[in-house]
Amino acid sequence: MNYMRITVHKLKDMIKNREVSVEEIARIYLNRIDEVDSKLGAYLYVASEGLLQKAKELDEKISRGEISGRLFGIPISVKDNISVENMQNTCASRMLTGYISPYDAHVVEKIKFHQGIIIGKTNMDEFAMGSSTENSSIKLSRNPWDLNRVPGGSSGGSAISVAAGEAALSIGTDTGGSIRQPASFCGVVGLKPTYGRISRYGAVAFGSTLDQIGTIAADVEDCALLTECISGMDKRDFTTADMEVPKYSKSLSKGIKGMRIGVPKEYFGEGLNDKVRKSVEEAILVLKENGAQVKECSIPLSEYALAAYYIIASAEASSNLARFDGIRYGHRTKNFKDAVDIYFKSRSEGLGSEVKRRIVLGTYVLSEGYYDDYYKKALKVRKLIRNQFEDIMKEFHAIISPTCPTTAFKINEKKEDVMAMYLSDIYTVPANITGIPAISIPCGMVDGLPVGLQIMSGYFREDILFNIAYSFEQSTKWHNITPDVQKEDGDYGI
Ligand code: GLN
Repeated sequence: MNYMRITVHKLKDMIKNREVSVEEIARIYLNRIDEVDSKLGAYLYVASEGLLQKAKELDEKISRGEISGRLFGIPISVKDNISVENMQNTCASRMLTGYISPYDAHVVEKIKFHQGIIIGKTNMDEFAMGSSTENSSIKLSRNPWDLNRVPGGSSGGSAISVAAGEAALSIGTDTGGSIRQPASFCGVVGLKPTYGRISRYGAVAFGSTLDQIGTIAADVEDCALLTECISGMDKRDFTTADMEVPKYSKSLSKGIKGMRIGVPKEYFGEGLNDKVRKSVEEAILVLKENGAQVKECSIPLSEYALAAYYIIASAEASSNLARFDGIRYGHRTKNFKDAVDIYFKSRSEGLGSEVKRRIVLGTYVLSEGYYDDYYKKALKVRKLIRNQFEDIMKEFHAIISPTCPTTAFKINEKKEDVMAMYLSDIYTVPANITGIPAISIPCGMVDGLPVGLQIMSGYFREDILFNIAYSFEQSTKWHNITPDVQKEDGDYGI
């Protein structure tokens, strides 16, 4: 049996029918990590012992006939900015190296409640700032489809872990695209839910009005399952909505006949790679064949989403990261003269250059004299963009676009060109600015690299996203194609 990217719904059946034990599954994933992770760099920490111990406990439960929980025995990786009790939570930063979390994030509690097992913590851009995982202060991660390329970011390690069969499911965070963009680059499914759908309790804050925890999986059914397991109201995150969580995974095959889908022309303009455009256009044809009414539309203000995003996200980051000062939290410098020197040196040593850039930019746009010109203006623009999206969502059930303008780019290609790096979020950022849900699913291959299709819908209509995504997936083969990591052995020249 080839376990490479075996889906969770199949694994669950195999466990239930006793075709495989939970321990065997755990060992298969650990062996896979042993085999490929020195090349890929998906993980910052692997909880081998804990995984095996928990697996044995679950096997005992099986022998007593006590299978319960919707993720029973499933190994799940978690981005290293989400707390798992007794595991590190470094945000891939020198600032938090050595920090061990004393508690579980809300989503981790939920996973454990459903008897899922946390396999380890995944690599990311430092404090989730970036689009390639190259900003990790700990190590480099590589795209499983081409080891010379980035996996995307900031949840790059999470996307790799699922794409390369190193985890059955993964949890990431998405502030401006950090789940969808790496999902697109690695050929897996990634969901950013509606703002307020999933509690962020236990996730390290970056941009609090934008951050969401979300899910990464090998196919739509798995993504729907994990999403419904971790969604819902949590008193410890006041932004969570007190709304019932639908059983997304049970209503996937409703079909999309008559569904109105908009194709905003602004997402197909300058900067979009021609081959990516072609893949997405072909995907649109599939949705039409499946009965959707697809129509061009326009959301002119989405052009300003990226500018507004980088002002708002940086402002919020500068405030959220102020606590990492070597006194309240984080790395403390060894040699210092006085208190000011502690702050200065601890932050200089502990934080990487992209994080510093955001803090400087954020402090600037919040400072007296510039607040009105930048931050306040960005908030106004955000409101206008939001209104325009809300209007569009009255007309359509969903809108679709490419997830990213290109496929995965080369390592170092954009590292020094900040603007080019920021532009790779151009299609994903609007969903965070407005708070609507969005999913990325594999929709084609270009020169051996996966292409992602983004679907966005109205607030709390994740069910629509899953329906459309599932309909597409049932008619295509893209989610079944897996990377051959072994093939790329040798010297990658970097
Ligand atoms: N790439 C975007 C940024 O660097 C988004 C990051 C994210 O979603 N965490 O801000």
